[in-house]
Amino acid sequence: MLIRIASAFKKALFPTRCLACGSFFHSAQHRICDLKPRAMDANSSNIAQEFIEKPVLTSAQGNYDLDNIPKVFEKLMAPFLCPTCTSGFLPVESPKCSRCGMVFKSRQGEDHVCGECLDSPKRFKIARSSGIYKYTLMAVIHCFKYKGKIQLARPLGTLLFTAFINFWDTMSIDLIVPVPLHVKKLRMRGFNPSFLLVKDWVRIAEFLHVGFPDIPVDLNILARTRWTEPQTGLGRKERLANIKNAFNISISDGSKITGKRILLVDDVYTTGATVNECTKVLLKGGAGHVDVLTLARAV
Ligand SMILES: [Zn+2]
Ligand SMILES: [Zn+2]
Repeated sequence: MLIRIASAFKKALFPTRCLACGSFFHSAQHRICDLKPRAMDANSSNIAQEFIEKPVLTSAQGNYDLDNIPKVFEKLMAPFLCPTCTSGFLPVESPKCSRCGMVFKSRQGEDHVCGECLDSPKRFKIARSSGIYKYTLMAVIHCFKYKGKIQLARPLGTLLFTAFINFWDTMSIDLIVPVPLHVKKLRMRGFNPSFLLVKDWVRIAEFLHVGFPDIPVDLNILARTRWTEPQTGLGRKERLANIKNAFNISISDGSKITGKRILLVDDVYTTGATVNECTKVLLKGGAGHVDVLTLARAV
């Protein structure tokens, strides 16, 4: 009780700083990040351990309008962002490419296959994203990936899960594979962002009252065996060359992926070079097909 009063006082006296624009604001009470994640496994680092906070299932539970991704974003991000920034989220809207999910400039017409997918078909079946990689979502992903704001894993994971249930039948996927980092990068960063985004989907589904089969997440299927320079700042051709043959199947037991319908997960889809390269390796290893889900889509 005393702790709760103290916490209420603290909230009233010390406003929170918006992670996106830096301005001060009074944060919302309900924090989905307070939900205790499932036991960490060997793939998570010590930094990720800090993410474990007290298990609070708040009254916000079940109140999410899951068809409305911008509203979900607004609600999830309320403890971290000022009201102006929470409203700066751009969803991926039709018309978009029915394969790669690219948003067409023209806001008229139906979804169809884009010119690039016709010219050089992608190896994955479809790619979808939660939102456009701009403004608030860009700032939040930046905080999560580069500033070690691990507390964003839960709200961003929930956002990604919301996109998943909007775009897929949950029974149509057998296995979730996060895009791996090179071991050197993993050591530098301390965690794999894509893995943190999917590792608690079962808990998130419970929280949102959504029926969800416990789809296994396996970070050990793929390995990034070749060190690559950051893709940022590279053009399409350079990105393709840079990422070529960077991944390998790292399991000896191929039956783990044989015929499996795989959901490949990454944080940002820029040109699709990375996820396409991963798909190539997974299909070569026997996967049935590969779909791609990312938090954000660059435009
Ligand atoms: Zn702000
Ligand atoms: Zn396309």
